[in-house]
Amino acid sequence: VKAVIITIGDEILIGQTVDTNAAWIGEQLNRIGVQVEKNISIRDAHDAIHTAIDEAWEQAPLVIMTGGLGPTGDDITKQSLADYFNTALVFSEKVHQRVQAFLTKRGYSMNSNNKDQAMVPEACTVIDNPLGTAPVMKFEQNGRWLFSLPGVPFEMKEIMHKEILPRVKADFQLQPVKHKTIMTYGMPEAFLAEKLEKWEAGLPAQVSLAYLPSPKGIKIRLSVYENASEFDDKLKQAVSELKAIIPGNVFSDSETELERVLLENLKKYGLRLATAESCTGGRIASVLTSVPGSSDVFNGSIVAYQNAVKSKLLNVPEAVIAEYGAVSEPVVKYMAEGVMKQLNADAAIAVSGIAGPGGGSPDKPVGTTWIAIALKNKVEAQRFRFGSTRDVNILRAAYSGMFLLNSVVRETYEQ
Ligand code: ATP
Repeated sequence: VKAVIITIGDEILIGQTVDTNAAWIGEQLNRIGVQVEKNISIRDAHDAIHTAIDEAWEQAPLVIMTGGLGPTGDDITKQSLADYFNTALVFSEKVHQRVQAFLTKRGYSMNSNNKDQAMVPEACTVIDNPLGTAPVMKFEQNGRWLFSLPGVPFEMKEIMHKEILPRVKADFQLQPVKHKTIMTYGMPEAFLAEKLEKWEAGLPAQVSLAYLPSPKGIKIRLSVYENASEFDDKLKQAVSELKAIIPGNVFSDSETELERVLLENLKKYGLRLATAESCTGGRIASVLTSVPGSSDVFNGSIVAYQNAVKSKLLNVPEAVIAEYGAVSEPVVKYMAEGVMKQLNADAAIAVSGIAGPGGGSPDKPVGTTWIAIALKNKVEAQRFRFGSTRDVNILRAAYSGMFLLNSVVRETYEQ
């Protein structure tokens, strides 16, 4: 079955709110086998809402709409829907009681705006909203469904999980889809595609392939949209063939992020990690510590931005910095060894680079970055030339450092 998602709100159109609702709903629908045909984002305006519903229902029998249901004057979705379905707003005792109970629980009493929330279009079925006061509505017309949900993401998600997805699964004939995502790092998209050309040609016609690049690596996604359950073995085989072609680049075949894979591997081999960060300014530490349980593995980081800090806290000899410059092989090697010792770790990542936009020179252009990996008594370093914007250079440096250490750990312990 096909679906259209409509997100309502002026704030989405002027870029004040990123439309994460459409992305999240799209992912959930795709998972249960609903094909999202289109996303439509519109203003809080009656004509825009009416036109969007016409357009959506022309293309799909299932429409999921979010936003514009709040208790304030700019929230007009409910009235628009009532007009669209030629029906009046009527008082719902059920919604009234629910809103009252919701507010009482939080120590508020009802005001006139909340009272208005108990008015709902006569033509709809009201669905429970366990986390908010805005009513959730379902409209049906000629076998087509339209759900209107609040825009607040955590309310919308709860309602989708508890109320909408189960109804869609029960009432529509769904074709489950299957995705398998392989995470790679360290090979640009064009090279990857060239290396995988033969493998790609050998995939069954029903399996479609997508490359999804970002500074965190390239995801290779295999998808089957029809009779997906018959393709389990074929997908497994395709994944193992792929891994055999680029064994050093695949770090996960279960969609796990690099930071999690690295932490898992370090934990598995009883290794504790420290980072010494110059141009990444603590980004590696930040990414790692956003993973729950990272304290099992991660000791800490020294953000050594100034040369004096590199010397004082990481014992990088001043003479080495003077001779080779802060962005150099010997300096990052000293940084890695220094932080490993200072923070009592078994492994370290050290980064020093020119993130830009200023600071480049002919032999060290913007994006030049040295990364060192220390593991027990082994230290190695590699130079990269990212050459992008400051933000992307920093992100690439952080992920390259984690990828390098993960590769060294695997080479050392997986034999
Ligand atoms: P409420 O009962 O909270 O008022 P509502 O349906 O009126 O619900 P909106 O007023 O449209 O929701 O939006 C409330 C907030 O929810 C917005 O300020 C924004 O932060 C977030 N939001 C709305 N739509 C989206 C969206 N499509 N993607 C991400 N966030 C959204």
